[in-house]
Formats: sequence, structure tokens, C-alpha cells
Amino acid sequence: MNEIKIFSPATVANVACGFDVLGFCLDSVGDEMVIRKTDKKGIHITKIENFNLPFEAELNVAGVSALAMYNAIDVDFGFEIEIYKNIKPGSGIGSSAASAVGSVFGMNELLGKPFNKTQLTEFAIKGEALASKCEHADNLAPALFGGFTLVKSISPLQILEIPSPNDLYATIIHPQIEIKTSESRAILPKVVALSKAIEQWANLGSLVHALHTSNYELISNSLNDVIVEPYRSQLIPYFNDVKKAVLKAGALGCGISGSGPSIFSLNKGLETANKVKDAMQNVYSKTGITFDIHVSKINTQGVKIID
Ligand code: ADP
Repeated sequence: MNEIKIFSPATVANVACGFDVLGFCLDSVGDEMVIRKTDKKGIHITKIENFNLPFEAELNVAGVSALAMYNAIDVDFGFEIEIYKNIKPGSGIGSSAASAVGSVFGMNELLGKPFNKTQLTEFAIKGEALASKCEHADNLAPALFGGFTLVKSISPLQILEIPSPNDLYATIIHPQIEIKTSESRAILPKVVALSKAIEQWANLGSLVHALHTSNYELISNSLNDVIVEPYRSQLIPYFNDVKKAVLKAGALGCGISGSGPSIFSLNKGLETANKVKDAMQNVYSKTGITFDIHVSKINTQGVKIID
């Protein structure tokens, strides 16, 4: 096999109470990539469609993660990468992670799978660090493993796979505004009150338990972020209106996806997920801000071969 086409999914990181550790994988939105072996040694990005991103491997997250893997192997050929980007960079649903994961997953398949998913995450972290200036895996892990994942630690890298209840659907709105990652980091408090920390880790522990036991009611009352959301939501226009409307429409919970501006909700059943979509649409169609909405079942497979 000399060429492979893959689907690399969008992901939601943080998931309210799981700041920097929890994430889940979507299946209705993602990038496609073609990875090809070539005689010319090295990593070469030969095509990027839909968005203006750098072709130099060292400046593109797909290239940086590919180079991290390439430098760990000894081969007399190289790889070409084509990126068909559907996830807008900076949307908060793991655009950079999809690219970082796609290149190393595709190369690993062409090499006969010498690396496991944790090792692929290690390479992908190098790419993700280019976009976010720090090493984190809360979007990479769900894109590679699928479902819900919890990054227990980065060094050594430890990723836990958490089961997804069958009837769980996400609805995500992406307002087309730009929030600088530096701004969304800078707005966070340096110190957290112990009472807030207790509330947050009680919610995170409960959410993980609720996912294991398919307890939708517990999912609902655990999806609360008392530490980050009060600050970051100020950067997202109409966040509180959206939250109020989706909870009224029957969502289990709602929060900021990654560092925003996307807003996610989790819902029991497709019918409720679609009602929540209408509620989000109602709020944002009055604002003059353009937006995309995605409804997706939780993708338990993650990145996959499509050709
Ligand atoms: P997201 O949360 O949607 O991934 P980030 O802010 O983490 O958004 O990453 C987007 C940044 O990474 C942009 O500055 C973009 O130019 C840069 N970047 C470099 N290569 C890529 C790529 N292949 N895909 C997406 N973004 C990339």
C-alpha cells in the first residue's frame, strides 16, 4: 500500500468540568487527508484545500507531527500529505489536532502499524504544540482513540478511554468570530478558591462515573464548569442566551468547546439534539453573526481510513 485516504475528526475538549483533561470525538465534521509514500525523502505537504495554511512542513501542525514520527524511523523514502480541511482553524473544535493526528495515523498505516495509539499521540503532541505553544493532548486523544478520553498525565503520557452512552449526541454551534488563543488563556485566573476546586473535581468525578454507568441525569447535573466558563464566556457573544435556550430545549448540559468560540451541548437522543440545534439557531440568527451548527453522535472510532 503506497497511498491512504483518511477522515480525521473534529473534537470537543474540556467538556465543562474537565478543563485540559477531558475530550470527546465527533463524527459529522472532520478533515480528509491523503498520505502517500514517495521516493523523495522527507515530509512534503503538496495540497491544502479550503483554508490558507502554510505548506512548509515545519510551519504546519500536520508537518510537525509527521516530522516527529519521520525522525523516529529509518526509511529510504518520504511522505506526501494532502489536506482537505473542513474544520476552520481557530474554531475550538480541534482543527489543529485533526491535522496533527491525521498525518501520523496515515503514515503509521502505510508503515504497517509499528506504533500504538499512545505513541502516535506523542508524535501528534509535537504538532499541536506549534498551534497552542504548549504540549497538550485533550483534542488529540479523542481524535485518535475515539469516544471520551481523559488525559491523566502528559509526562509520562497516560490516556484513559471512557465509555460513551449509546444515545448521547452533541450539538455544536460555531459563531464565525475570532478569539485569540492568547486572549482566552490570559483571561483565566492564576489562583482558584479551594471551594471552587472541590466543586469542579466533584463534577468531573461524577461525570466520568455517569459516562461509565449511562446515567444521563448525573451527566446533566455534572456538566458544570465553575472555574473557567465564568471568565471565558465573556469572550463569546450571547453565550448565556444560548445556554439558557438549549437547557430549555432539553439539553443535558452546555459549555464552551475548547477555548471557544464554539459552544457545545450534550443531549439524550437525536430528536433532542435537533431541538437544541433549532434553539441555538434561534438565538444566533437574531445577532447578525454568521455561524455553523453540527449535530453529531459521539464518534467511538476516531480517525479512520476511508479509501
Ligand atoms: P483549534 O482549536 O480549532 O485547533 P487552534 O487555535 O488550536 O484552533 O489552532 C489553529 C492555529 O494553528 C492557527 O493559527 C493556524 O494557522 C495554525 N495551524 C497550522 N497548521 C494547521 C493545520 N494543519 N490545521 C489547522 N491549524 C493549523
